Amino acid sequence: MVPEAFVLVAAGGLGAAIGSFLNVCVYRLPRNESLVHPPSACPRCGTPIAWYDNVPVFGWLWLGGKCRSCRAPISAQYPLVEALIAALWVASAWAFGLTWHAAAAAVFGTLLIGITLTDARHYIIPHEFTIGGLVLGLAIAAAQGWSQLIASAIGAGVGFALLISIAWAGEKVFRKEAMGGGDIWMMAMVGAFVGWKGVLLTIFLGALIGTVVFIPLAWLTRHHPHWERTGEVDSGSGMPHVPFGIFLAAGAAAAFLAGDALLAWYWGFVLGG
Ligand SMILES: [Zn+2]
Repeated sequence: MVPEAFVLVAAGGLGAAIGSFLNVCVYRLPRNESLVHPPSACPRCGTPIAWYDNVPVFGWLWLGGKCRSCRAPISAQYPLVEALIAALWVASAWAFGLTWHAAAAAVFGTLLIGITLTDARHYIIPHEFTIGGLVLGLAIAAAQGWSQLIASAIGAGVGFALLISIAWAGEKVFRKEAMGGGDIWMMAMVGAFVGWKGVLLTIFLGALIGTVVFIPLAWLTRHHPHWERTGEVDSGSGMPHVPFGIFLAAGAAAAFLAGDALLAWYWGFVLGG
């Protein structure tokens, strides 16, 4: 039996290191840059970042948030993402112990945070997170046995098929691309982690959150044209771009954590139980 304190410290260290790698992914994948080459360097003076300054969270703290050679400020997003992913991995180990379910929670949460960051900033959901995440989800399910693997594969298939149908219907109705390939592969990945019922719940919750957030946002943009910033408003329709992946990510997290309870409540509500 591994002592619990050791598991939590190890989860925190591993999470911080993965958070550091996620920062690299979030910065480089939307720019189609390599993840391994060149090594991290200051964007202003080009000085490579030494390994001792690249320690998650602490590196940024003891540099005072500035480049060691030219004193250019380094975004606080880096240590914040590292701390957030470390906390996520500790919470997963704390809640689910040293289990495959804890691994699924930590990996799935990391992927959803990565998607949220790239979709919010660039309206891009990289295939490395979606197709790469789909492979990870299937692998974690396979480690738990055949029935989990089959449930995971069905979830992925339902997620992919549903989103491709919605994308097709959206193009017919709006005569323009309403949903990108990123959303479609994202829901295949989500299905591999939450199963087919979780996919239905994720789409329902994502649409609900999207409606509550998007309608006021569209209204504000229409009435405050000076708020428009490059790339945030579609030039054709004048409507804001919708980073729908963010709403799906929030729905997917809820479906993973409380899917059974939410579905039970929903069916009780529908059937008047
Ligand atoms: Zn510098």
